[in-house]
Amino acid sequence: MNRVVSGVGMTSQRTRARMIERLREQGIDDEDVLAAIAAVPRHVFVEEALASRAYEDTALPLGFSQTISQPYVVARMIEALRSGGRPLGKTLEIGAGCGYQAAVLAQLTDEVYAVERIAPLLAKAKLNLRAIKQLRVRLKHADGRLGLPEAAPFDTIIVAAAASRVPQALVQQLAPGGRMILPLGVATQYLALIENQGEACVETRLDAVRFVPLLTGVE
Ligand code: SAH
Repeated sequence: MNRVVSGVGMTSQRTRARMIERLREQGIDDEDVLAAIAAVPRHVFVEEALASRAYEDTALPLGFSQTISQPYVVARMIEALRSGGRPLGKTLEIGAGCGYQAAVLAQLTDEVYAVERIAPLLAKAKLNLRAIKQLRVRLKHADGRLGLPEAAPFDTIIVAAAASRVPQALVQQLAPGGRMILPLGVATQYLALIENQGEACVETRLDAVRFVPLLTGVE
């Protein structure tokens, strides 16, 4: 009689479900965001040696002194951009890293642009997104502090590295009614939600966070 060996797949299904439960317990209640996170196999995006930790709610090293974002923070940022039932629309991500958050965003909107300044990381993101058959994300090797003028304006912008102040080029690339979320600060950081209300931009402070710094130029 043949025995079906399903250990790894089963474990990963179960640990993924547990991760979603934990996000719920931490207060994430946007069901579409939870479903998007559940749909993306995070283990594909982390180094093989760390794959068994892929569904822990923690940041993990990516190489090049960078980290793959913590699932709670990914969820929190995307949930904030969608608050009030607004769709993400055309989205720009700054700091694609290995492409994990871009993959989550692509579950929620058709138009995702993602910029990364470290060329080998961008190459990894490309491979990872191809591996999960996510071909919707448009990746670009560039300094994201300048945004992506050729594709602007954006309905939403999400920044995955911390700036000491809001990069003005990004504010200028927000569509009317557009929203941006970014970590601000150096020693202590918090998430800021910036809303373009036409005549003014309104900033709301959210959670305390810890991100790698937003750097200048490409490498
Ligand atoms: N979004 C990733 C997180 C990557 S960590 C995820 O889903 O896990 C933050 C990334 O921002 C790093 O890869 C870093 O190289 C990149 N970064 C920092 N400054 C940048 C800049 N000015 N332009 C583009 N990317 C930048």
